[in-house]
Amino acid sequence: MHHFDVIVVGVGSMGGAAANSLAERGLSVLGLETFEPGHDQGAAHGGTRIIRQSYFESPEYVPLLRRAYDGWRKLEAESGRSIMELCGGIYIGDPGDITYVGSKAAAELHGLDHEILTADQIRERFPTMAPADDAVAVYESNAGYVRPEETTFANAEVAAKKGATLRFHEPITHWQTTPGGGVEVVTTQGTYGADRLVITPGPWAKQLLPELKLPLAIDRMIFYWFSPEYTPEVDFAAYSDANHPVYIEETHGNGQIYGFPMTDGPDGGLKLGFFRKGTPTTPQTIDRTVYDHEVADMQERALQLFPRLTGKLVQAKTCLYSVTPDEHFIIGPHPEFEQVQIACGFSGHGFKFVPVVGEILADLAQYGASELLPETLFDPQRPELRLAVQ
Ligand SMILES: Cc1cc2nc3c(=O)[nH]c(=O)nc-3n(C[C@H](O)[C@H](O)[C@H](O)COP(=O)(O)OP(=O)(O)OC[C@H]3O[C@@H](n4cnc5c(N)ncnc54)[C@H](O)[C@@H]3O)c2cc1C
Repeated sequence: MHHFDVIVVGVGSMGGAAANSLAERGLSVLGLETFEPGHDQGAAHGGTRIIRQSYFESPEYVPLLRRAYDGWRKLEAESGRSIMELCGGIYIGDPGDITYVGSKAAAELHGLDHEILTADQIRERFPTMAPADDAVAVYESNAGYVRPEETTFANAEVAAKKGATLRFHEPITHWQTTPGGGVEVVTTQGTYGADRLVITPGPWAKQLLPELKLPLAIDRMIFYWFSPEYTPEVDFAAYSDANHPVYIEETHGNGQIYGFPMTDGPDGGLKLGFFRKGTPTTPQTIDRTVYDHEVADMQERALQLFPRLTGKLVQAKTCLYSVTPDEHFIIGPHPEFEQVQIACGFSGHGFKFVPVVGEILADLAQYGASELLPETLFDPQRPELRLAVQ
């Protein structure tokens, strides 16, 4: 049986970064993955992910985001791939909405570069948008998007270059701890041993960690790409990432939507989606068909912000969220086995943290603790999760 310092189960968004960080430290690493880099069955596909720092979810994320930005630049340099584009970001809401209030609070607390814009200023600056008259916004230039498929390719390539062994199309069926304090992992093709285990299974967390009875809502989400109508005043250039920010918008209690500039030319369409509003599913049973009524629902909501988004649907794709009760991540030691680290429940907003989560997981596997990890926010045993360990 091959023996490694660390085995990483699930070489997707977080597992790819963990394998990369662990290999960089000179540890012998085995990564095991059901599919291949760039696959579209989990949470790491769809071309783009928003990256931002004025974090409405909680200012506690800001130090992690600063660290993650350094990690994104390093990953680009090491892989030679183009992954991050900072086209700016705008968070639009009623003056009392969390989107606006939370973003502003995080920016102020951490001294992040930002501007406050009125509805008129938003329309003038970004003529594609027609926000409600009483809307306000936080704009930050240090926001934009990262490319998920490029990221998983980059982490796999760079980790392999640093010595990691990565085995794709090799799902693990079972893992267990061993009497000597290590772990044993069984796949469809063999059995492997290691001192430490990192489990980064994305939406498959309940299957790989059944003993934890994780309180995760696995939600079917949809990204949509629509083509706008171009006018002489608001032409393609107005939607391109030279002129258009990423955005989150909620006004008059209508639910958050988010989206991107036109990243892939005029035929690629404008990508957007509902931030929440998923339907419960499982990775095994998800219905990948997107229905006409769902498209109509999205377009009706999108037209409230983009009055020229009247064109046809270019494409729509499903994706999976793994949502915790408090929408904060789960990262830390397995409650029963200190040689096992878990990271899951990224609640639809984890991608921008990929490089820093990789570092945290490498710290946890190597030292059992990480200075980068907030004290309790992501604790697998926090009361908000009510983990029932048997
Ligand atoms: C529609 C949508 C929009 C999003 N938008 C944003 C955004 O704008 N900004 C942002 O920051 N985040 C966003 N996210 C969230 C982000 O993409 C996720 O939080 C992140 O990708 C989760 O990473 P993960 O590693 O947990 O899961 P994944 O990337 O899915 O990786 C898990 C991997 O584990 C593998 N695996 C599972 N079981 C096994 C097994 N038994 N054996 C071997 N391998 C296994 C899977 O095949 C998979 O490759 C979005 C997500 C979706 C779905």
